[in-house]
Amino acid sequence: MAAQVNTEDCTGCGACVDVCPEEAIRIGGDGKAVVDPAKCTECGLCVDACPVEAIAIP
Ligand code: SF4
Ligand code: SF4
Repeated sequence: MAAQVNTEDCTGCGACVDVCPEEAIRIGGDGKAVVDPAKCTECGLCVDACPVEAIAIP
């Protein structure tokens, strides 16, 4: 499973985008993080970087 974003909690801060080594995350048109599951390697860096715990690896 790729990292998954809780869009209710995501503030769109972009910290996860900056830290992802695979460029697997972008901020979508709704201002929330979006993960490309084809690129995510489940490294967990975005999970550690998110200040509001809005992204997790299920
Ligand atoms: S788990 Fe790693 S590869 Fe996947 S979106 Fe987060 S930072 Fe990127
Ligand atoms: S770090 Fe967390 S709050 Fe910031 S854009 Fe990523 S998922 Fe959303």
